[in-house]
Amino acid sequence: MRIAIASGKGGTGKSTVAANLAWALSRSRDVTLVDCDVEEPNLHLFFPAPATDVPVTTPNPEIDAARCTLCGECGKFCRFGALAVVKDCVLTFPHLCHSCGGCTLVCPHGAIREVPRTIGRVSCSRPLSRLVLISGVLNEGEVQAPAVIRAAKVLAEGHPLTLYDASPGTSCPVIETIAGSDACILVTESTPFGLHDLSLAAEVAEKLGTPAGVVINRSNGQDEATVAFCREHGLPVLMTIPFSREIAAVQNRGGLISRDLPGWEERFAGLFRAIPGVSP
Ligand code: SF4
Ligand code: SF4
Repeated sequence: MRIAIASGKGGTGKSTVAANLAWALSRSRDVTLVDCDVEEPNLHLFFPAPATDVPVTTPNPEIDAARCTLCGECGKFCRFGALAVVKDCVLTFPHLCHSCGGCTLVCPHGAIREVPRTIGRVSCSRPLSRLVLISGVLNEGEVQAPAVIRAAKVLAEGHPLTLYDASPGTSCPVIETIAGSDACILVTESTPFGLHDLSLAAEVAEKLGTPAGVVINRSNGQDEATVAFCREHGLPVLMTIPFSREIAAVQNRGGLISRDLPGWEERFAGLFRAIPGVSP
């Protein structure tokens, strides 16, 4: 089973929920936690352990100047500005390339070939006997976050229970993370901004056909608007985590409430059982 944990905005506690859920579940079963927030992966901070890195490469065009006639077709085709045909050569801008392969196809003279370029890495560790952590890491300045996410997800294939921690927002990396998941946990907080961004994230899950439920984090007890939204959109509220000094203290020192506070391991196990499509 593959479960994505997402939120429409940053700072809702999405990664904290993912880490706590992973820890609680790993007490009784094998769990693989995949950090798909590849621009700012942080789950390794909860689960420090020696890791093995695998580079992630994407194909980029390389021009054969001997064959190139400067016809300009490749420059006209590229929608990302990654190629420019100038007076006496073709300039390439690898960081802008999205590896679509189109320029190679349209070149009438076979003057372009694809060569691999490293854009990031996937880091794999086993911090607990029943927990595997896979973290995607995009190199600074690179744009192809989805490629690193795909590589991280491929490494987790075949694992019985996988949790994907998405990046915040609703852009391509989030879609790449949720796509193919069996269910999605949407983490929100009880503020007007939180509700607005929850509505965007819920729309993404709905468009992808992924059953979703909601965790209200840092609840101030005034969740009526969020609960009403969830009811209206058929989203079960899976768990409410109160705004509390005790919880904040654990999290501020990088701890996990499912491990460090009594009762929370069982509550996170209950969250898992409440996810749409999960059989107890
Ligand atoms: S592979 Fe696609 S994105 Fe990259 S340079 Fe060629 S046309 Fe542009
Ligand atoms: S399409 Fe091929 S031949 Fe034409 S400018 Fe580009 S690399 Fe050169």
